[in-house]
Amino acid sequence: MNSVYLNSNDIKAKALRLGFSACGMARALPLDAEAQTHFGRWIATGAHAGMDYMARHTPLRMDPSLLVPGARTVISVALPYRPAHPVEGLAWYAHGKDYHMVMKERLQQLLQLAGATGRCFVDTAPMAEKYWAWQCGLGWQGRHSQLVIPGQGSTFFLGELVVMEEADHYDVPMANRCGSCHRCVDACPSHALDSGWLDARRCLSYLTIEHRGPWPEPLHLKEAFYGCDQCSLACPHASHAPCGDAAFQPSEALLSMTPSDWHSLTEEQYRLLFKGSAVKRAKYDGLMRNIRAWNPSAGG
Ligand code: SF4
Ligand code: SF4
Repeated sequence: MNSVYLNSNDIKAKALRLGFSACGMARALPLDAEAQTHFGRWIATGAHAGMDYMARHTPLRMDPSLLVPGARTVISVALPYRPAHPVEGLAWYAHGKDYHMVMKERLQQLLQLAGATGRCFVDTAPMAEKYWAWQCGLGWQGRHSQLVIPGQGSTFFLGELVVMEEADHYDVPMANRCGSCHRCVDACPSHALDSGWLDARRCLSYLTIEHRGPWPEPLHLKEAFYGCDQCSLACPHASHAPCGDAAFQPSEALLSMTPSDWHSLTEEQYRLLFKGSAVKRAKYDGLMRNIRAWNPSAGG
């Protein structure tokens, strides 16, 4: 039996030095019954829209020790991305380098510094990342479905290490502090939160990034043509400070784009502008479909 325990305080200090803004630890147990039921109901209503991958591998999503056999501990981290100079029309998370690469590299560094053995997860495997961030004491899942960290809001990426070792101390889940607040629900331009959870079929972030096919005409794009920050911006727990991480700042070329430049963007310009960026997920045709539906001067 492994009698070496991970030093949780030491790992948290190292995580902060790597640029993470929060880090916590929880035992690698199956998701609790309430979370499993909630997830099952969300899928059953079809609110995951075209994200078919969300409905696959449910047993793995419900139990990290099936993803990493023998795992004892989940370490959850947050990496802030709010840029110093926002580009009009583009979600904040998409201003810099592809977060999958940045997060994976930092998680691997943390795994090594922690002296642990296990796997890194960045949004690419069936991990219930918001549940684990909550279990690890980072924050709570707000009415807009994102994790909220007090004083930081929701403008960060989440990542996880699932490791074989036990920790000398485990965090406790943070109590939900939404109370009677409905600011995110009221701020949503497409009423995607009206049913009490995130309905991706109406969410502009899902529709501009993941949805393939024609733009759903009754919905309008005013604030952004790629992603949407409106619900997280409305949260009273949000931070107004930009992150200092060079990886998530926009290039000069991106900063110089005007609405008219976006409308005349060629495929070659798109490739240069978004080299190494997560925006590639929408593909050129998808991005241009969004830009045609975007009207920043529209009322309402
Ligand atoms: S990301 Fe935008 S569209 Fe989606 S729930 Fe939040 S405010 Fe609504
Ligand atoms: S805006 Fe209000 S209801 Fe929404 S997540 Fe933040 S605190 Fe919760």
